Amino acid sequence: MCFAVAMPMSGGQRWWVFYDEVKVSFSAGKGGDGCFSFRRAKYEPKGGPDGGNGGRGGDVYLVADENVADLTTYHFKPGWKARNGEPGRGSNQYGAKGEDIELKLPVGTVVYDRETDAVVTEVTEHGQRVLLLEGGEGGKGNTVFKSSTNQAPREFTLGKLGESGDYRLVIKTIADVGLIGFPNAGKSTLLNMITNAHPKTGAYPFTTLFPTVGVLEFPEAFERITVADIPGLVEGASDNRGLGHRFLKHVERCKVLLIMIDMQGTDDREPIADLRVLQNELKLYKAALSRKPVLVAANKMDEPSAPENLKVFGNKCKHPLYPISCVSDEGFDGLKAALLKAVLAVRAEESGVED
Ligand code: GDP
Ligand code: MG
Repeated sequence: MCFAVAMPMSGGQRWWVFYDEVKVSFSAGKGGDGCFSFRRAKYEPKGGPDGGNGGRGGDVYLVADENVADLTTYHFKPGWKARNGEPGRGSNQYGAKGEDIELKLPVGTVVYDRETDAVVTEVTEHGQRVLLLEGGEGGKGNTVFKSSTNQAPREFTLGKLGESGDYRLVIKTIADVGLIGFPNAGKSTLLNMITNAHPKTGAYPFTTLFPTVGVLEFPEAFERITVADIPGLVEGASDNRGLGHRFLKHVERCKVLLIMIDMQGTDDREPIADLRVLQNELKLYKAALSRKPVLVAANKMDEPSAPENLKVFGNKCKHPLYPISCVSDEGFDGLKAALLKAVLAVRAEESGVED
């Protein structure tokens, strides 16, 4: 199964294949075998045992690296193995330890066991280093087995196999706020205006195919929160319509959801119906998503039909509602303050600190 997403690059001319999900197999190195050997010196025909131990196999580490954008490397080379330990040698020489490997992953990669689908580990911060698989123990050389009753041991052991596993690597965006809404609601425009990110905007559905994360600064409060523009959800997304799961999985890690609704009611769409469809998609994808705190931004308030639509919508919407306009630059302050408050509340809850 190919998980590539083709992204139109600048000018829409080139296509960039972006892998955010791949299947891989990793294994740590085997331990080197222990050596079976007796000392053979010129005037010492019956020298004692001198077989050295084998070296440990190399370990497999995962390292989060913000310079790695996606999983392309692993799509083209899904199998990685750390070096085996070297066998022990005569003269009691120990085998060298097999070299470890460090596999660089994009920050936000989750590692699933392919068989059980359980999360094995995840890397969430640049520089984070996780020991995934341990190399096998080196075998013992026959010297180890020498004792007062056994001066010429013939035993030695073989190196043990290293750990190995089949995994699924999935990149999930880590952001405080997941900005969701139908295509053309104005998500990219808002992110352009209130954060440092500059996603492309345009009046066509899938302007964005991968979440863009922007930082929202609050200099007076010495705080910053991150906002991810989750690209165009459509009805049936939870069923993998549109680009379905590919995007919904990025919502999983957000602390707060900001649902953006177009108050213009284009094509006779009812804004409240839009909200219900979006919430239903979240719930169908994963019930836990519908338990996240939700704020609603009623966008395009500059449009003539918007104030009337807002009245109807406001009566039915159960969530905190923030009317805004990205054209007339209105309502941002209230929305930003509410986002910060909501995110801080979740952060405090997660760290177990009471407000
Ligand atoms: P996205 O698909 O949700 O990311 O939507 P975009 O940010 O690409 O915006 C879709 C279209 O709506 C663009 O043509 C924007 O210029 C327009 N738009 C965004 N915000 C507003 C707004 O507040 N008022 C009006 N009138 N148009 C807006
Ligand atoms: Mg967009």
